[in-house]
Amino acid sequence: MATTDSRALRLAVIRTARDMNALGINRGKSGNVSARIDGGFLVTPSALPYEQTAPEDIVAVDRDGEARGRRAPSSEWRFHRDIYAARAEVMAIVHAHSPFATTLACLDRGIPAFHYMIAVAGGSDIRCAPYATFGTQELSDHAVHALEGRVVCLLAHHGLIAVGNALEQALALAVEVETLAEMYWRALQIGEPKSLNETEMARIVQKFTTYRTLQRR
Ligand SMILES: [Zn+2]
Repeated sequence: MATTDSRALRLAVIRTARDMNALGINRGKSGNVSARIDGGFLVTPSALPYEQTAPEDIVAVDRDGEARGRRAPSSEWRFHRDIYAARAEVMAIVHAHSPFATTLACLDRGIPAFHYMIAVAGGSDIRCAPYATFGTQELSDHAVHALEGRVVCLLAHHGLIAVGNALEQALALAVEVETLAEMYWRALQIGEPKSLNETEMARIVQKFTTYRTLQRR
């Protein structure tokens, strides 16, 4: 799937970043958003409030990590580059420090199959990648690994990453995962909820895959 750098795509990246905050899954300047383009990706700039971000502030980064633009790319550009390199189907990435998912990640906890909707992750759980300093290759390696066979992961002591075949899809997934993280957190106040078994989760993942295929027709 080829996508070229355009003003429309830059505006869509900015809109997604603003929506992330408006929807309550991120606050302030933390988090970042990217969209794949031919030879690389467009990503939100470092240290600029989304409300003040103009299309010209969006940074184009090529697959070697070379940035082009008037601003520096988000300090997390490495995991964006490496996820696009590892996953040909991924067209957009949303990274947020959403409160409930991050709370679990601060306890080094992923989210088990306590609810059938965990299958939106693409499998029977949402993994939590081990901690590494933000912006490092080590963090990127952990993230790519935690995303294997999944479209979302948590980052220990940090936040979450959601990927999709479009910006809207990655954002909607991040919102869904934050909702699940809140429900799991609430359940934990009473006790550790039982997980659905692998057979049932495989069935749900299959149903979701069929559902998505039908939606695309
Ligand atoms: Zn972050």
